[in-house]
Amino acid sequence: MKPQDTPIAVVGAGIMGAGIAQVAAQAGHAVRLFDARDGAAADAKARLATTLQGLVAKGRLTADAADATLARIEPVGQLSALAGSAVVVEAIVEDLAAKRSLFRELEALLPEGAILATNTSSISVTAIANGLQHPGRLIGMHFFNPVPLMKLVEVVSGLQTEPAVAASIFELSKTWGKVPVHAKSTPGFIVNRIARPYYAEALALLLEQATEPAVIDACLRGAGFRMGPCELMDLIGHDTNLAVTKSVYEANFFDKRFGPSLVQAEMVAGGLLGRKSGRGFYAYPAGAPALPAPDPAMAHAAVQAAREVTVHGSGALAEWLAERATAALAPQGFGPARLLTSAWTGLEVDGVRLMLTSGLTAAEWVAQSGITDVAVFDRPVHTEPGTLAYAVAPAASAAWQAQAAGWLQALGFAPQRVADTPGLVVARTLAMLVNEAADAVLQGVCDEAGADAAMKLGVNYPAGPFEWLARWSASEVVALLQALDGCYRGERYRVSPWLQRCARAERTAAAPQNRAP
Ligand code: NAD
Repeated sequence: MKPQDTPIAVVGAGIMGAGIAQVAAQAGHAVRLFDARDGAAADAKARLATTLQGLVAKGRLTADAADATLARIEPVGQLSALAGSAVVVEAIVEDLAAKRSLFRELEALLPEGAILATNTSSISVTAIANGLQHPGRLIGMHFFNPVPLMKLVEVVSGLQTEPAVAASIFELSKTWGKVPVHAKSTPGFIVNRIARPYYAEALALLLEQATEPAVIDACLRGAGFRMGPCELMDLIGHDTNLAVTKSVYEANFFDKRFGPSLVQAEMVAGGLLGRKSGRGFYAYPAGAPALPAPDPAMAHAAVQAAREVTVHGSGALAEWLAERATAALAPQGFGPARLLTSAWTGLEVDGVRLMLTSGLTAAEWVAQSGITDVAVFDRPVHTEPGTLAYAVAPAASAAWQAQAAGWLQALGFAPQRVADTPGLVVARTLAMLVNEAADAVLQGVCDEAGADAAMKLGVNYPAGPFEWLARWSASEVVALLQALDGCYRGERYRVSPWLQRCARAERTAAAPQNRAP
């Protein structure tokens, strides 16, 4: 579709519609913009003129390009003025009846080959198409806010959407400078579904008083996320976040896996909505309080006290720990031993253990091993180590409690002690994101590459769920989820059959008879 041959109509000139009109016009299309409220389309064009002037002033756009973009946008006062458009993108109020009635009117106006696209973020595309004469030409074109900056477009097919229509919108999105990802119309599509555990695991930790919001946020920032879940919920607004959670929960027939949290419901009931109300998890404008800085003396004392250190485990993380431990011990004049065949990853220091979380708590390891001085630490996933959660077995000696933190510092982390909960902070969150993405793939909502692109571009995740999985292992993720399930029961932590299959395939490949000679 050449832009000059493809006039675009945008209906709804609010935040999203104005952004969609802008990107279409910048890509060279003639754009007609309609809004039910008188003057709203012209206002949106005037706002865009100011935005474009700002970009010209900053040298990011030429004056000619800004003028050409504006000249291509025509605010219209009647829906009938949209006749002759090749594609209509709807961005009106999020209401099924309003969207259905609009598309019925549009269908009567537009040529038969025209594509009807909806920017709905939560309504079933299949449901919006129901009642149309040609439901096959209706498709979801889900942009993210702010539209000119966010690269992702979820191209959402309903039950009756024709594959050729999905393919056209996919290609059109690319010419608008976007990264399209195919999705099947299911609650939350890709991003809003897979992202649920990012909030839910933080809320679950807070519900059981495992730690403070500032610690959770620091740990996930330490894992490479731009914002921690608590500060992000404060930014989105707890009312909005709770509403999305409830809508995904209801749309999944109240599957407990998607259940909202009492922590958030209580905040909404009390008007603690986040930044917009001045208070959420944090008070604003101050925001999150700073965490106490690590004390270098603790690292020094822990390393000096060590007589014999063994790095357990094999694989990239164990190698990395070995490198760090070697550097930390160098001034002592000895290095760590290695036990590559160990069943766990971490450090053994004079017979006591600092173990990478597998999902088992420190207390469970004590019960298994008979060793009382056990600490577990969270999964480091970022190349630049930052804040890392750890937990110490309840009966551990005071000396080991201090030394465990000291050793984590010596390895380069800023340790934060949390309650002895399965999977700590980052590992349980990532495992649940992977699990949700695995179910989305199992159900044909998207493919693995689509899920990764969607999460990186739609919500700025530092990596996609399948990229995390590739650096982890399906068996380990399954074991961690099973540990969570064993602790909490209920449906939330049930393991995706897709992940179970991957774990089985890993075990089969690792069996001695199947190993390459
Ligand atoms: P908005 O309130 O800023 O704008 C909606 C506009 O639609 C308003 O100007 C309103 O006058 C107009 N309108 C309402 N009913 C209409 C009708 N029947 N015909 C023509 N115009 C009508 O809303 P928004 O945030 O731009 O959201 C629009 C759509 O995009 C919704 O479906 C929303 O779920 C979806 N969406 C929003 C976001 C977001 O972050 N805001 C992100 C993705 C998708």
